[in-house]
Amino acid sequence: MARTNFALYFDEIVDAFEVDDNYSTKNFKCQICHEKIQFNRGINHKDPHFKNWPKVEHLNNCAFNNNYKRFNKYNDQNVDKIVSTILPSAKRLTVINNQYPNRTIIERYFGRRSKEFLSALNMLDNDKINELTLITEYGNTVKLGDIILRQDEIIEKMKNENIEFICILKGYTSQIIEIKGSIKIPLTSNGKYKNKNKFDLFLPASYVEKNNIQLKNIENKLIFCYGVPEKNEYGYKMNVYSIEHQIFIQEKCKVDKK
Ligand SMILES: [Zn+2]
Repeated sequence: MARTNFALYFDEIVDAFEVDDNYSTKNFKCQICHEKIQFNRGINHKDPHFKNWPKVEHLNNCAFNNNYKRFNKYNDQNVDKIVSTILPSAKRLTVINNQYPNRTIIERYFGRRSKEFLSALNMLDNDKINELTLITEYGNTVKLGDIILRQDEIIEKMKNENIEFICILKGYTSQIIEIKGSIKIPLTSNGKYKNKNKFDLFLPASYVEKNNIQLKNIENKLIFCYGVPEKNEYGYKMNVYSIEHQIFIQEKCKVDKK
């Protein structure tokens, strides 16, 4: 069964990254069907998540029963709703960062689930992507198509809404530029997808070495990148800490209807 980042703890939604010794491990429940689930710290305690207890399945009508395994097999046309295993809103990131300053936003990207989620995107055609809905960490429903945004759409949203948000940027990369040890990956802004605004992916210097292998394959590609868009004195950007976990590179361009 799909692992998830969220669980219900009494009346509160908790993120696996928030769980410490103060939590009683018997009290986690699925936020959809309220069946008991267990907490696991993951490999080297670096990939905290929730999963079901042995022989305890989610209730029949729980959206988790309909989740990743079938999401990955997109041929199953009956799948129309999936439970988010990434964060569709930035609310939780802010909470985690305020309460657990040593557990940074950055850690949050490194779990296996963002990677699985992004690869699954590639198996869906554009119509299916626009159709699918995500049940978020708060139980709300979000259209998957609504969080996949091109750079112009992101910039417009940033100007209009003035709040931090998470999205999946869809764009076309150009050649990387090294700036004092950091790497900037500009997205094309005048050709593919007819984007007008400049937008960069930015890999901070301290993360460059970890990403060296993947960097060789990132130029001139259609990519989906999961993260929080920002604006600074140099312009609009999205920070990338792990290409492997945050970026999905679409090797063969599909016909794009969006
Ligand atoms: Zn459930």
